[in-house]
Amino acid sequence: MTPDLGSFKQIVLKVGSALLVDRARGRLNHAWLSALAEDIGDLHARGADVLIVSSGAIALGRTVLGLPPGALRLEESQAAAAVGQIALARYWSEALAHQGITAGQILVTFTDTEERRRYLNARATALKLLELRSVPVINENDTVATAEIRYGDNDRLAARVATMIGADLLVLFSDVDGLYTAPPAMDPQARHLPVVERITPAIEAMAGGAASELSRGGMRTKIEAAKIATAGGTHMVIADGRVKNPLRRVAEGARCTWFQTPSNPATARKTWIAGSLEPRGVLQIDDGAARALRKGASLLPVGVRRIEGSFARGDAVVIRDARGELARGLVAYDAEDAARIIGRASREIENLLGYHGRTAMVHRDDMVLTGSAPDEEAGEGPISRIEGAA
Ligand code: GLU
Repeated sequence: MTPDLGSFKQIVLKVGSALLVDRARGRLNHAWLSALAEDIGDLHARGADVLIVSSGAIALGRTVLGLPPGALRLEESQAAAAVGQIALARYWSEALAHQGITAGQILVTFTDTEERRRYLNARATALKLLELRSVPVINENDTVATAEIRYGDNDRLAARVATMIGADLLVLFSDVDGLYTAPPAMDPQARHLPVVERITPAIEAMAGGAASELSRGGMRTKIEAAKIATAGGTHMVIADGRVKNPLRRVAEGARCTWFQTPSNPATARKTWIAGSLEPRGVLQIDDGAARALRKGASLLPVGVRRIEGSFARGDAVVIRDARGELARGLVAYDAEDAARIIGRASREIENLLGYHGRTAMVHRDDMVLTGSAPDEEAGEGPISRIEGAA
């Protein structure tokens, strides 16, 4: 059973250069893009949140700059990206405007998705755009990304974006219609796999090298993307993007490969917060706040009595009440600033800190209850209350 496209609420679409840009002429495939925009318009109209991770900056920019064919040096590709990204953003914004959709550009670097402090910012911006019914168009900020720390391929970037915002589906449009047991161009016996339930070493071996594609990411980076996505609770599908209206085709049952996740984004995120992060500090809270947290509320500065540790914004902290550990979460303030606003009402934050910070010290989406409730037996494991956690 493959999932129904209509059942997903937050969808990241990854569009590669090879589909968007006509290689021979180095120009945009306008007809293809406007057909894809129609598909996006349909999803958007039924209420789904859509995010696009689009490549094409370097491919477009190199034509404009008249750079020679073949591999580019890093600074050449960065120059090409600087020129091409302007065009790329304009094409997307025009194509989406035809569907009555406002596009918003987000350029990210590896550290923006991997460093928690910056991660929270990128996430908040993307979620705000979605709330405003805009469609974020995302690419790696190639102009400033340094060689050692860059994604380089948008497959993995798209997977990180998807897990970062808690999307339930990632669609990778490719120039193949999914994963085969061997590269289909080389092996006539190769069999197409409609569903991958788990990424085993055998599945990874099937990915082989990058030979099947023009763009940077071959099947290997797609499998890497699938690992990131499925670990974060996001389903992924590799679909043929060479056709017109590729998304509609998937909805109609076109051949593709689904990678299933055993989890969902909310559970995966909470498992990550409670289980994988080293806490950098402690927030000691009062009884009123503890009661509110148990009911699912965010932790406001007013309910915090004392802080310990020298944490930075975005770090994991332990939240304690009089009985001990109650929760863990990602804190919205550095320790220094936190110390200045504890015990105070959220509306005072701006006066106290000189900037308009977040209302909550730990937002409920960034928090997991880890301690036992007062009426429960003591001695429960710290993550036993996370639904579905192993
Ligand atoms: N970020 C690159 C670009 O826009 C593309 C990376 C990729 O091909 O995956 O040109």
